[in-house]
Amino acid sequence: MRFLLICLLAALTCLTSCKRIEAKLDRLARLAGLTTAAEEVPKKKAEPVLTAEQQALEAKVLNSAVFETVKPEVVTPKVETFELNKSAVVSILGYHDFKARGGSPMLINGTKFAEQMKAIKESGIPVISLSDVLEWRKGKKNIPEEAIVITMDDGWEGVYTFAYPVLKEYGFPFTIYLYKKYVNIGGRSLSWVQIREMMKNGCEVGSHSVSHESLRGNKKRNEADQQLWLLGELKDSKEFLEKNLSTTCTSFAYPFGIFDESTTELAQQVGYETLITVNSQKVTWESPLGKLGRYIIHGDSDTNFKLATSFRGRGDVSSSHFLTSSAKDEKGNALVELSPVPEELVKERQPIITAKLARLGTVAPETVRLRVAGLGTVPARYDPTTMTVSYKLPYRLRREDCQVTLNFKRAADQPDEVVGWRFKIDLAAAYLPLRLP
Ligand SMILES: [Zn+2]
Repeated sequence: MRFLLICLLAALTCLTSCKRIEAKLDRLARLAGLTTAAEEVPKKKAEPVLTAEQQALEAKVLNSAVFETVKPEVVTPKVETFELNKSAVVSILGYHDFKARGGSPMLINGTKFAEQMKAIKESGIPVISLSDVLEWRKGKKNIPEEAIVITMDDGWEGVYTFAYPVLKEYGFPFTIYLYKKYVNIGGRSLSWVQIREMMKNGCEVGSHSVSHESLRGNKKRNEADQQLWLLGELKDSKEFLEKNLSTTCTSFAYPFGIFDESTTELAQQVGYETLITVNSQKVTWESPLGKLGRYIIHGDSDTNFKLATSFRGRGDVSSSHFLTSSAKDEKGNALVELSPVPEELVKERQPIITAKLARLGTVAPETVRLRVAGLGTVPARYDPTTMTVSYKLPYRLRREDCQVTLNFKRAADQPDEVVGWRFKIDLAAAYLPLRLP
């Protein structure tokens, strides 16, 4: 039996170069009172000091069924716990109708919309779905430190003609708020076919009532009739959309943004989990789900778009000069060299963040600011000779995602520039026992 075990261990060690498996096998061998060839020279090694959390994980690893199945396969421990990013800020944008040219408050031209989406894409600020926001608020998942949600009210065909192709190209999810009386009725209303097609490409559907009347109601109705009518506006519209689109409709946008406490309460009883206003506020961990802020984007003014897309005093995506984290110079070299590189999965939970700016030519040192998700602006070091910004994280990251934003100006009188990127942390790998050198 012992000989068999040794053979198996040797075979497994040869079969794989995976450090984790090696480390695990070493431990198993030690546990069984055996030593592998690699371990014979340094007889006694100090055990790495493990935290209770790591010990628990290790116990799980040691108990796994690797010797029973004979397959050189390791069950990777899943780290179920994650720290909720309660400092995240979400900006919900609200659009209405679209057309080819011109622009009025509720009508935006297709070119302008495409420019706005491009600016968002280049800013690196992720666009997430409204259900991501809800899942986050329920504590089920994390969202990036800063994020944008796109919504469109009323169900105009212009959504399908002008906005949808752009959103689809960028892979941006979005939500449309429909009211029962204006769905699939011809004219300029969206058809079921168009809606279903969009739903296959990132579109979620919310309710915008039955009639689109102000929910405050009509003075001619008495109290009882008003309540009955209100219930219909909320409930019928929800059921209508759910039945016709085979979906669940958990979000409601108040027509004209008008609501009061009792409306919100009734809407929540009917089953809406997020209720959307037009009150130009960002959504945070504290925002009541019954009245989430939203910026209505107008076709004849950029003000709300600028307000919506500036986060924590930083310039908005259109006026700040955003450098995409992947921007290259004419020779094909990255303009800003970032480490950890964007979207990289790092095993080090306390990495050093660096950004080399030398390829930009000049940078005004006093304008350099580095922000890290959850920490805010951090005391990063800027070395003017190498033009490198660096910052060592003060503690081990417990989140699976880290968002970094770097602001600077090339000269004091030049516009603010922003590089935003994120990297991921392999929390599971960082928990595995270390093999001593
Ligand atoms: Zn509306």
